[in-house]
Amino acid sequence: MKLFKSLINLLFPRTCAACGNLLLEGEDTVCTTCRFLLPKTGYEQHPDNPLAQMFYGQMPFNAVMAEFFFSKTGKVQHLIHGLKYHHCRENGIFLGQEIGKSLLQAPDYQGIDFIIPIPLHPKKEKIRGYNQSHVIAEGISGIMNIPIAEKCLVRSVFTATQTKKSREERWQNVKDIFELKNPEKLKRKHVLLVDDVLTTGATLMSAGKALMQVEGIKISVATVACAGN
Ligand SMILES: [Zn+2]
Repeated sequence: MKLFKSLINLLFPRTCAACGNLLLEGEDTVCTTCRFLLPKTGYEQHPDNPLAQMFYGQMPFNAVMAEFFFSKTGKVQHLIHGLKYHHCRENGIFLGQEIGKSLLQAPDYQGIDFIIPIPLHPKKEKIRGYNQSHVIAEGISGIMNIPIAEKCLVRSVFTATQTKKSREERWQNVKDIFELKNPEKLKRKHVLLVDDVLTTGATLMSAGKALMQVEGIKISVATVACAGN
C-alpha cells in the first residue's frame, strides 16, 4: 500500500496549492512552510478590529473576523482563486479548517448553533459546480463540529422585468438579495455567517438584514481574507 502510494506520488506529483512546490509525504493541500507563513489577522481575538468597526451603527453583528490578510506574496489570493475558478475544492476545506481552529480559541465565537454560508447565485453555482462559501463552511464545520444550516438563507429569485427597473429600484433590490426559509429553525440561535472575502461588507450587510428578521438571533461573521493592514 505504501509502495503504491509512493508510485502514485511519483506519477502524479502533488503540489502545494499556495506556492506550487512539491508536497512532502504527510503534507496535504498546503505545504508546512506556507501554513506557517500565511498572514493571520488574529482578529477573532479582538472584538474592536477594523472589520467589526465597518458595521458599527449599521448592523449589530456579535463578532466579525477574517482569518488572513491578502498577502504580498499572493498566496492567499492564489488559494481563493483556485477555489473559485479551478475547481480546487480542497483549498476551501483547508481555508475553512484554518478558520475553525482559530474560532475554537475565540471567546466571541463560542456557543454557535449553525453555520450559514452566503449563498451563491444559482446560475453561478451551476457553472462552478459548488458554492465556494459552502465549501469553506464544510471545513469550519468539520473542525468545530457545528452543523451547516442548509437552505435557510437563499438568493431571491429575480424576474426578467428586473432589467427594466430604474436604477433606484434596482438598488433597492440589491439590498434585498437574500430571503429566509425556515426562520423558526434559527429562532434565538447563534449563527456563523461565512463568506470568502470581506471587502465593502455590502453582501454581509444584506445577508445580515435578512437574518435579523429572526427573533433573538445572534450573528457572528467569519471570512477567509481581507485587505492588509
Ligand atoms: Zn507552499
